Amino acid sequence: MNLHEYQGKQILKKYGVQVPEGIVAFNAEEAILAAKTLYEKIGQGFLVIKAQVHAGGRGKGGGVKLAKTLDDVRNITHAMIGMQLVTPQTSAEGKKVNKVLVQQDIYYPGATEIRELYMSVLLNRMTGRFMMMYSPRGGMDIEKVAEETPQDIFIEEIDPKVGLQDFQARKIAFNLGLSGNANKEMIAFAKSIYQAYVGSDASLFEINPVVKTSDDKIFAADAKVVIDSNALFRHPDIVEMRDFAEEDAIEVEASQFSLNYVKLDGNVGCMVNGAGLAMATMDIIKLSGGEPANFLDVGGSANSKRVEEGFRIIMKDPNVKAILLNIFGGIVRCDRVAQGVVDAYNNIGEIDIPIIVRLQGTNAIEGKAIIDGSGLKVFSAISLSDAAKLVTEVLK
Ligand code: GDP
Ligand code: MN
Repeated sequence: MNLHEYQGKQILKKYGVQVPEGIVAFNAEEAILAAKTLYEKIGQGFLVIKAQVHAGGRGKGGGVKLAKTLDDVRNITHAMIGMQLVTPQTSAEGKKVNKVLVQQDIYYPGATEIRELYMSVLLNRMTGRFMMMYSPRGGMDIEKVAEETPQDIFIEEIDPKVGLQDFQARKIAFNLGLSGNANKEMIAFAKSIYQAYVGSDASLFEINPVVKTSDDKIFAADAKVVIDSNALFRHPDIVEMRDFAEEDAIEVEASQFSLNYVKLDGNVGCMVNGAGLAMATMDIIKLSGGEPANFLDVGGSANSKRVEEGFRIIMKDPNVKAILLNIFGGIVRCDRVAQGVVDAYNNIGEIDIPIIVRLQGTNAIEGKAIIDGSGLKVFSAISLSDAAKLVTEVLK
């Protein structure tokens, strides 16, 4: 589950990570109130207004703006809320901004330099350990750093049994080129970030930038946090942070039927039993000249109820021009599935796009006979190559 920046920062703060003071606002009036509250707390300084959407790269897309006055706070928030924010990480249409974070500006000038660093914690699936990835060259172009000067990206492997060790935290602070108070703060910072990651059962904490201020303090200036959905039952407080407005409406609905649906951009919907077969089916669709409109695994029990729910979900996507149902009858019998397809078709009524059903395995021939005898606009196939040909034909 993805979190907003301000939610990630709430978790960080709980674990003792230093974050800038900030308040969320849903409109310009709330932003003004937030700004006044912040002025009382930290004195009248600059603030930043940050669009809260589930996408990075906001700085490049105009989703992070400096507000020097209360008028700025009002005007920037007014313009930002409701806009479609397009960043290098969103689609071309962008993401709608529903709220902003009004936050203390920690880039205040001073005698010594301000620096942007990078730090993330994630799981290394190769070693089965956690790793802390960090770089002295954080900021908006970390991807470029990784590509062009990979030697500037450091990795510290962490054994989950013992956690981040003191010597590792010291090494991190040293490699980041920090000295004095900043070095001391970084050691505590790295340890706390690791604690926050483990304690919240996250699969990713990415802090970019980590800021070293002009007076040698260390702040988490941004926070991208992903929580492992399988562990959410242990974190009712985090479950409450879920923001449905950020998720695809069809995917949310599919999850209510426990269908594993992922929306894609193509024109051929597909419904398959088993994730591996679903991946292969998407390849077949591409090979036959189409583009998959979705990934949908209906699971082992492809009965008529599930097939019907699957059809309804797929057809909510207006781009779908054909549907390919690909079932391997192992435990499930193909004749049962075929009957399920006919029932679902009749229940839904008014299906005006061609449906291709490929049945293979137990009772495949009986299943095909049921489809062919149904009189419905459903094409049947037994081999995958025949199904692919049918997809090509109906797309024409
Ligand atoms: P992202 O682009 O979505 O990753 O958003 P970030 O939170 O990382 O912000 C992007 C950029 O905005 C940063 O790299 C900074 O250059 C700038 N920025 C972020 N926070 C502040 C702040 O408090 N003050 C100022 N002046 N700039 C900031
Ligand atoms: Mn960032």
